Amino acid sequence: MKDRIILVTGATDGIGRVAAKTFAKEGATVILHGRNIKKLEMVYDEILAAGHPTPAIAPLELITANPDQYQELADTIEKEFGHIDVLLHNAGMLGTLTPIEHYNIEQWYKVMQVNLHAPFLLTQKLLPLLKKSKKAAIIFTSSGVGQKGQAYWGAYGVSKFGIEGLSQILAEELENTNIKVHCINPGIVATKMRAKAYPAENPGNLPAADELMPRYLELVG
Ligand code: NDP
Repeated sequence: MKDRIILVTGATDGIGRVAAKTFAKEGATVILHGRNIKKLEMVYDEILAAGHPTPAIAPLELITANPDQYQELADTIEKEFGHIDVLLHNAGMLGTLTPIEHYNIEQWYKVMQVNLHAPFLLTQKLLPLLKKSKKAAIIFTSSGVGQKGQAYWGAYGVSKFGIEGLSQILAEELENTNIKVHCINPGIVATKMRAKAYPAENPGNLPAADELMPRYLELVG
């Protein structure tokens, strides 16, 4: 992993936070994306304190970001690093679990923006930098409800179906290039998103994000 440049979206909590720290521990230089500067700085400091390669911070609120801001992010990364090797689309928003009939329209737009439009925009703007890598990977994050429709999962489920489609289209378009495209379904993981979806569960009985890391390292390495 030494000298690999890896951008992790939603690196401030849950799976993304653990993934960013795991990649750094393996020697990668991690670009930490998030919307909350304080939380970003905490992860940054933890990586530094552990003696891993100095990470970078890329703040962007995905609900409101416009295409120019994605371009600015890509330009900053290009100036700083010249290329990237891995783009892990991990940031996600649950929204509400509600019948389609009653789904709040504003909420629908927000979830689609974070879970589907943001990965599209970021991928498009960062493809030139991924093409400069010797061996690159784009990893999308799906969910069980993105493979089989389930009642009440609303925009979240639809956005994950979209991610599955986006990753398949992109995988075919990039088939004969240096870039591999993956889509991972993490399964059940004890995070704040899981707790919001299933408040009655005891998180202590669920798999922790660390347990997933061998799978993530395989895709990234
Ligand atoms: P968490 O809620 O713990 O973490 C989500 C991350 O995304 C956080 O860093 C969060 O930032 C960031 N994020 C959310 N909204 C925005 C936004 N508007 N702008 C910028 N960043 C944002 O979720 P998980 O770790 O559980 O989920 C990670 C991925 O795995 C998601 O794509 C999720 O759909 C998927 N997944 C998770 C499962 C599970 O059981 N946990 C199961 C299947 C799929 P902040 O810290 O500021 O909130």
